[in-house]
Amino acid sequence: MSDVYAEPTTGAHPTDPATLARYTTLRLGGPAGRLEIATSADELVQKVREAEAREQAVLLLAGGSNVVIGDQGFPGTVVLIRSRGFRVVAEDADTVTVRVEAGEPWDDLVAATVERGWSGLECLSGIPGSAGATPIQNVGAYGQEVAETITAVDAYDRTEGAVVRIAAADCGFAYRGSIFKYSDRWVVLSVDFRLTRSPHSGPVRYAELARALGVEVGDRVPLADARATVRRLRAGKGMVLDAQDPDTWSVGSFFTNPVLEREAYELFRERAADLGEPPSWPCPGDTVKLSAAWLIDRAGFGKGYTGPEGVAISTKHTLALTNRTGAASTAALVALAREIRDGVHTRFGIPLHPEPVLINCAI
Ligand SMILES: Cc1cc2nc3c(=O)[nH]c(=O)nc-3n(C[C@H](O)[C@H](O)[C@H](O)COP(=O)(O)OP(=O)(O)OC[C@H]3O[C@@H](n4cnc5c(N)ncnc54)[C@H](O)[C@@H]3O)c2cc1C
Repeated sequence: MSDVYAEPTTGAHPTDPATLARYTTLRLGGPAGRLEIATSADELVQKVREAEAREQAVLLLAGGSNVVIGDQGFPGTVVLIRSRGFRVVAEDADTVTVRVEAGEPWDDLVAATVERGWSGLECLSGIPGSAGATPIQNVGAYGQEVAETITAVDAYDRTEGAVVRIAAADCGFAYRGSIFKYSDRWVVLSVDFRLTRSPHSGPVRYAELARALGVEVGDRVPLADARATVRRLRAGKGMVLDAQDPDTWSVGSFFTNPVLEREAYELFRERAADLGEPPSWPCPGDTVKLSAAWLIDRAGFGKGYTGPEGVAISTKHTLALTNRTGAASTAALVALAREIRDGVHTRFGIPLHPEPVLINCAI
């Protein structure tokens, strides 16, 4: 079993090894019907096929950092993905392509690429979970997302019963989305990333990161500096897992940032006129992205806002909902999420959508 993935020992969840709360960063989730562990790509395919032969539903779980699992748990087979490692599969003077096993802990991979002078993942430092889950929601932070470096995904196609290679162009990458999200069809076995041989980061795109590094947006910085600064910024927001810090017992951002058509955006601005200029970013197709954290805060749900059973908004970041006692139920967390979503809708007329995958629960 990996030493990186959470098997929390704190909190009041039951000690039954099949209780999924042990395997999620929220420390939430009822029992698995059956729990299997896959330590290689072959084993992963085999475990999924065996579950299908038993006519059982399958839930793939790696770091458990982007799932909310209901209190009833998952009655089928849960496969814990614990394959490890990466290797260089192609290289030239300027680039190196690494093939990474699905269960490889993401931040270990980022650390290894930074150490080797391979640029492209450094701003994604400190994100929990596995490499194989990064294509699922096109993981991104601080101006970088994996869609920029992924060249292909090897997956088991459950519909066809075959292992296939999916080129990046066919992955349907979008903001926090891809063909893999909300789909039971694909089991990601490994992911190929093409990285640039360079001691420097790509151009820093995120203003907050540039400020913290003391450079201008568009400048490049040593890879190690980018990584250390991103990790420091993230830690200050409770966005790096820390068993001692209940502000990190979350799924990171609970809601995605809403993207509005221009007309809806202008309506929203009128509605929010009393609150000054809301933060926004222009997006392709004349759309505008808003800050979900700003909306939540201005709708009256500030840091530390507490719901039933002690579930609460992180004291460090408005977008993170936490099971901060470790003893709450999924029902309580979902109730808090619902209250926030409805409050934002009432105040601003904007629907918020959850970022994590909800399993046997709904908001
Ligand atoms: C403190 C914190 C901070 C975070 N910050 C960020 C951030 O900055 N940016 C960001 O994008 N995300 C962030 N996240 C969310 C999360 O870390 C990422 O989405 C991560 O990639 C999830 O990986 P995982 O291995 O934990 O996936 P899991 O939670 O185990 O699984 C998530 C989903 O992917 C599916 N899945 C997992 N592995 C596979 C596979 N091999 N094949 C097919 N399906 C699979 C699961 O079935 C599930 O539907 C954060 C989470 C936390 C707790």
